[in-house]
Amino acid sequence: MKTIIEPFRIKTTEPIKIISRDERIKALEQAHNNVFLIDAEDCCIDLLTDSGTGAMSTQQWAAMMLGDESYAGSRSWKHFEHTVREITGIKHILPTHQGRAAEAILAQTLIKKGDIIPNNSHFDTTRANIEYVGGVAMNLLCAEGTDTTLDAPFKGDMDIDKLKACIQTHGVEKIPFCMVTVTNNTGGGQPVSLANIRAIKSVLEPHGIPLIIDACRFAENAYFIHEREKGYKGKALTQIAKEMFSYADGATMSCKKDGLANIGGFLICNNDQWAEKFRNLLIIREGFPTYGGLAGRDLEAIAVGLKEALEYDYQVYRQATVRYLSSRLEEAGVPIVKPGGGHAVFLDAKRMLPHIDPLQYPGIGVVNALYVEGGVRGVELGSVMFGSFDESGEELPSPLELVRLAFPRRVYTQSHFDYLIEVIKEVWKNKDSISGYKITYQTQFLRHFTCHFEPV
Ligand SMILES: *Cc1c(COP(=O)(O)O)cnc(C)c1O
Repeated sequence: MKTIIEPFRIKTTEPIKIISRDERIKALEQAHNNVFLIDAEDCCIDLLTDSGTGAMSTQQWAAMMLGDESYAGSRSWKHFEHTVREITGIKHILPTHQGRAAEAILAQTLIKKGDIIPNNSHFDTTRANIEYVGGVAMNLLCAEGTDTTLDAPFKGDMDIDKLKACIQTHGVEKIPFCMVTVTNNTGGGQPVSLANIRAIKSVLEPHGIPLIIDACRFAENAYFIHEREKGYKGKALTQIAKEMFSYADGATMSCKKDGLANIGGFLICNNDQWAEKFRNLLIIREGFPTYGGLAGRDLEAIAVGLKEALEYDYQVYRQATVRYLSSRLEEAGVPIVKPGGGHAVFLDAKRMLPHIDPLQYPGIGVVNALYVEGGVRGVELGSVMFGSFDESGEELPSPLELVRLAFPRRVYTQSHFDYLIEVIKEVWKNKDSISGYKITYQTQFLRHFTCHFEPV
């Protein structure tokens, strides 16, 4: 088999600034050892997130020039609406400026205080929007999904028995809808099988509980189904996506992911009453229902991007990148979460740095070492981001200490990844010299963005 190449060539370039090791040490110090506070320009390979960081195609840029900026009923809106309906088959389509805006409208119209919203794993903005209106966000991930060393095809699946138990315990009237996140971002970007989505639907349907898909990475999930689920090899990704959405009563979407755009989102549903409620709030929060906080040119870029994300060659290349990095790291013995996710590879900082106590944040140790070694920016998903406090104010560690290396779409080439592999191997070699950290400043909410660290 020949090398899987990037299925594009580069027409516009953006220079990467490579600063010296000494300059990086200084930049990290000035940022109080928190890579969120470092200037993007000082990061040579920026893997902080795959959200809105992708490169657009010539077709997308050309479509942007066709943007119709009319306030109501623009041509670009028609293009967007037609495309989303073609892909999902869902009736009502509301554009929003991001995924979280769609979540906010969904939560504020349908959730009452004390309601329970099951999901495989809630993404942090989804959870925040549910909790903000007094709901309870419940994670019902399958047992396989929590074992970082296990290589299984669909570690994003929901535990169906837990879903049944949840309905039994809390009662149908407490559950206005159920969600499923494809792929499961907070659970390592692991896919959800169609068999699981079908099973979820068959549990919900007799109770009349609607199913909402958190669809941010629906195209990556469709690719995994194509590769890993029996009976889908011969199908186009568009057919698989259509089947996924056929079990849903609605969906929320961040077009910064599989919309291959830098901004945008949508909220869709089949229920006419819901649509009316959503629209009322959309007009106050986001804008008129035919633009929803987006410029006409954004709607055009998304309409093209959604289709490109479903191109088979694109997904083959994207997942080859994930596999390339994860297999090289496994060969080198670097502990990672298995298998690689749809949009990221996760280093297991707890197994990498067993000499560091979880409350001295091994994930931050790894993140900062990657930055000093090669200007690589990753993100800690561990006790800093997910840690909590008990009633007496005692800090509790997170069950996992991970470092996520998220892949912007169509941005980095194989040589960038070869460089990344060299950097990680070097950090791994010198792991014993990495120290833990303590927090010297933090805010009450979402502390990871702004807190200050000092080495211990
Ligand atoms: C990114 C993301 C969101 C929120 O989307 P934004 O556009 O960042 O507001 C919701 N759910 C999942 C699974 C995501 O990855």
